[in-house]
Amino acid sequence: MSIQFKSILELKSMLNSKTISSSELIEETFKLTKDLKDLNCFVTMNEDSAKQKAKQIDQGKYKNNSYLTGIPLGQKDLFCTEGLRTTCASKILSNFIPPYSATVVKKLEDSGSITIGKTNMDEFAMGSSNETSFYGNVHNPWKRNYVPGGSSGGSAAAVAAGIVPASTGTDTGGSIRQPAAHCGITGMKPTYGKVSRWGMVAFASSLDQAGPLARSAEDCAIMLNEMSGHDLKDTTSLDVEHTDLLRSINNPIKGIKIGIVKEFNLNDLDSKIQERFQDSKKLFEKLGAKFIKISLQNISASVPTYYSIAPAECSSNLSRFDGVKFGHRSKNSNNLNDLYIQSRSEGFGDEVKRRILIGTYALSAGYYDAYYKKAQQVRRLIKNDFESAFETVDLIMTPTSPNTAFEFDSKGAQNPVELYLEDLFTISSNLAGLPAISIPHGMVDNLPVGLQLIGNFLREDKILNAAHVFQKNSEFHLAKPSLEDF
Ligand code: GLN
Repeated sequence: MSIQFKSILELKSMLNSKTISSSELIEETFKLTKDLKDLNCFVTMNEDSAKQKAKQIDQGKYKNNSYLTGIPLGQKDLFCTEGLRTTCASKILSNFIPPYSATVVKKLEDSGSITIGKTNMDEFAMGSSNETSFYGNVHNPWKRNYVPGGSSGGSAAAVAAGIVPASTGTDTGGSIRQPAAHCGITGMKPTYGKVSRWGMVAFASSLDQAGPLARSAEDCAIMLNEMSGHDLKDTTSLDVEHTDLLRSINNPIKGIKIGIVKEFNLNDLDSKIQERFQDSKKLFEKLGAKFIKISLQNISASVPTYYSIAPAECSSNLSRFDGVKFGHRSKNSNNLNDLYIQSRSEGFGDEVKRRILIGTYALSAGYYDAYYKKAQQVRRLIKNDFESAFETVDLIMTPTSPNTAFEFDSKGAQNPVELYLEDLFTISSNLAGLPAISIPHGMVDNLPVGLQLIGNFLREDKILNAAHVFQKNSEFHLAKPSLEDF
């Protein structure tokens, strides 16, 4: 029986009924990674260790038995993995083998899941199309030479192509939700602080958050249950009780109030994307939801605010890559200062350099108040808008992305702002630290379209509940790419 396109729950029941052993499952998974190598989803494979772990599970040497025991997963190459190369899809870290694993990886592995390999991404998670990876573009499983979205493009494509049932991703401004939307799968960014950032290479520390990409909201809940929790090693990790997200996932959603943001002018979008949105609204209404118009008056400032804060924080975070402590070291330098300059010039790609330049400028004396500080003040206003909106609604619904996946090299080459606008609908929840999900809701011109649900602080339960009920009453999440181009 094929394992391709199976969900976590389906694979788990195959393992439990002994239809397949853990070793067979892992064997089949690696076969798929080889058959679908052209997609370029993975940067580094973990074949030997994965097979060894599966064998241990089959021999009953593994004590834990969670939903994830024996389940193959992809890990975004931004998470440190002990003894396994971690590149952040960059040249500068092309030879970096971490001495420890990120908390997220450790938690998932402790639950019995098996890391298959490290997934391709935009370099240091900076991008919306996976075109900034040093290791080449990832193809969208639905259409060759189309982007999978970014930055977690490899993770999204690996799930969409049915190689693994789930992968980890990170989302600083939309990097889980936007690729999930472009690849027709479900992806969730949790509340800031719900999942530990320890061992996840930092891009913009006040915005970064890890989360799952999977075939359904239910599988996302399973992943998130294992990934979240307080971590003393991350000072921004939330010390709160993390409730079981599966517990309320089946609750009826009758009476739930969903906000539609007045400031997002959906009439500007492609008419077929608008149609998808209206149809999903009708389905939610049929399921008992009530729609209310809400105002987020500062929302139009979210893209410029993000592009002041994120580069500023990235310029500081990436200063550690100096050719001395980590990664690539230039052979063309005569003195220490030159070593720094040459190693960084040779090691970073263009987009990362652009962000470091913008960020260094925004943080420099004389400009700090005008840019970084001002952006933080605007961020507070955006957060306040959400706070008042959530006094009247349970969730907010928007498209995930203003368009479907696009062709390689078609956006951002002349003007990077074109690509920055990809995150129009996703960025504000990172600025406010709020949880949000993207679920597939149909196709436009043979490419998937995503629907976003944003929730209040730590209300992942409400988001997953609404998304799961939607998926129980529709079949969009079950659509599979033919993969005949690969
Ligand atoms: N696309 C956004 C950027 O380029 C967001 C990336 C992310 O979420 N990691 O910064």
